[in-house]
Amino acid sequence: MPGEAGAGSRPPGQSPRAAGVPPYNGASPSPPAMPESTAVLPTSLPRPHRLLGLAGLLVVFLLVGLASYRISERYGTEGMRLAASHQLDILGAVIDSEVTRHASIPSAVELNADVLGLLRTPDDAQDLRQAAANRFLQKLNDHLGGPAIFVLDTAGRVVASSDWIFSDNLLGADLSYMPFFLDAVRGSPARHYAVDHVRQEPGYYFALPIRDEAQEWKIVGVAVVKSGIREVERRWLAQEAPALIVDRNDVVLLASPPEWRYATLRPQPQEALAKLGRQQFAGQPLGAISLNLDLDGADAGRVVRLPKHLRDDVAPTRGARPYLALARNLPGTAWRIVVFADLRPVGVQAATHAALSVAALGCLLLGVLYTRQRRRLARGREEARAMLERANQELECKVRERTVDLSAAVTGLQREVQERQRAEQTLRAAQDELVQAAKLAVLGQMATGITHELSQPLGAIRTLAANAAEFMRRGDLDTSGKNLAIVEQLTEQMGNIIGPLKTFARKSPAVSTAVDVAQAVDAALFLFDARLKKEAVIVERKIGPGGSLAWCDRNRLQQVLVNLIGNAIDAMHDEPLRRLSITTERASSGQVALAVTDSGYGFSEEALAHLFEPFFTTKQPGEGLGLGLTISRDILRDFGGDLMAGPAPGGGARFVVLLPPLPPNHQESP
Ligand code: ADP
Repeated sequence: MPGEAGAGSRPPGQSPRAAGVPPYNGASPSPPAMPESTAVLPTSLPRPHRLLGLAGLLVVFLLVGLASYRISERYGTEGMRLAASHQLDILGAVIDSEVTRHASIPSAVELNADVLGLLRTPDDAQDLRQAAANRFLQKLNDHLGGPAIFVLDTAGRVVASSDWIFSDNLLGADLSYMPFFLDAVRGSPARHYAVDHVRQEPGYYFALPIRDEAQEWKIVGVAVVKSGIREVERRWLAQEAPALIVDRNDVVLLASPPEWRYATLRPQPQEALAKLGRQQFAGQPLGAISLNLDLDGADAGRVVRLPKHLRDDVAPTRGARPYLALARNLPGTAWRIVVFADLRPVGVQAATHAALSVAALGCLLLGVLYTRQRRRLARGREEARAMLERANQELECKVRERTVDLSAAVTGLQREVQERQRAEQTLRAAQDELVQAAKLAVLGQMATGITHELSQPLGAIRTLAANAAEFMRRGDLDTSGKNLAIVEQLTEQMGNIIGPLKTFARKSPAVSTAVDVAQAVDAALFLFDARLKKEAVIVERKIGPGGSLAWCDRNRLQQVLVNLIGNAIDAMHDEPLRRLSITTERASSGQVALAVTDSGYGFSEEALAHLFEPFFTTKQPGEGLGLGLTISRDILRDFGGDLMAGPAPGGGARFVVLLPPLPPNHQESP
């Protein structure tokens, strides 16, 4: 994961927080977003790759389906082959027991003296012998339960027969054309399927040449036993699956379905078939149906498809149904038994198995995908958790660093605050000193007036005290007492003059209390009493309703007023009309607004711009320092008030002192 990647190099989809440690902003850090790559399925592959992968998957599914189809089909076919083989065993056993059990009878016939006698006897003396032979054959046949036993002479004519008692017996019949006769008369035992032309009944014929020992083993006739194939037929027709018995000429002797009887496996020339029909099948038409089946290799099992015209005989179906043809030569005969096993169930089963395999593969694949996805998600979660932990650690580290920085900053700030407090204290002390100095300066200015004020009562006291002493010497205690009473009055008057000066000159720390503004104004005016009278200043004093109480330091306010009144008297010194107006009123803000207006020379533009700057003065050296207004504004701002200056409406200057009102919770003392 990129830990320090910048915004420009961040992988798309990754949140800025996940790209690194979130910046410290005082808030708790949000957990970093989970990287999207961990939550994305492999569908994020490029499109062609995805299509290729899909195609590959389809091919794998197809191959698996095909393979399971093939395997299931092979096993199914093998099972069918085994079942068909078993069926062949049963059918073979049936034929064997039904057909070949009579195979040894001709030997018995050959040994019979009556039969030999009949064959040795010339034609004219045969009747007696024939009757004996017939009876013998009849007995033998009855004993064995066979269908027929007969004897042919060398010309192929039936000379004795077990069925001699029946009207449709074979006696005299010419069977010289029969293949079994032809073979036997030549000396070789024969066994053939054939249909006799008398009863049109199919059967299996065993023929043996009869040799006469007396005639040097010359063949004198042929002994024939005919086995019925009814039981075989019955069993055959009971077959559900198609089954055939084919002779060496590829003619179907017995079939299920029965329609296929006397059909040929392959088309054959008509003449050959007609001849065969005459010889062996009592003129039955052969090859009317050609099965068109190639049974080469059918001994091991061969998949064949029945021609369309034959399908309906077996089972009406739409498609060319596949059959497993299994053939076997019947031992001791020239027959082949063929059974057909329907392979359609095998196909259905194989298709089912293929579908199941594909489904199982799909499930397996889904399982693998699910497991992979789970692992990927778990890995993603683990990575996200580790990343979150890392981010947290880094964040904690940063917070620690920042905390250290902040602590340093706080310590610095505390130091700075302490320094400022110290500076402020120093400034305040300096300011107090300045205020005191200003007060003393004012007092200095007043010294002349005060001296003048005090000198008069002082002189009077001196005179009155001297007079009182004289009157006491003369014994006029009354007059002396009156004089002393006047002295007392005068000293009280002098005390009244000196008292406010003492209060004004006192050096005291600024403490805000409820101050009666009118009293402060009066005290200030009293200090200038002598000067105001001397300069003939008309004083107007108007204290408005609610404009009397303010929250400040009385001494400091008096200092401000002394400064403003003193400046006003200075400014009016050369003016013909000297009017000083002091008014108070409650401002809309709740503050007390005290206006000091004079009819002096007013302000020049420059003076107005620099009025409150320290050491700005228009007065002569020694008359002013230029600190009065600066100190006054500072004093008022310390209380939460202010000082503003402007021209008076009729000329002159106007100063407005704003004083804070009493705090709401202040209990006014009665
Ligand atoms: P100082 O009185 O020592 O000069 P202040 O700070 O009290 O110092 O005053 C500064 C200046 O403001 C004065 O020199 C004067 O020019 C001007 N000034 C103050 N009060 C008035 C006034 N009432 N009328 C005209 N000018 C004034």
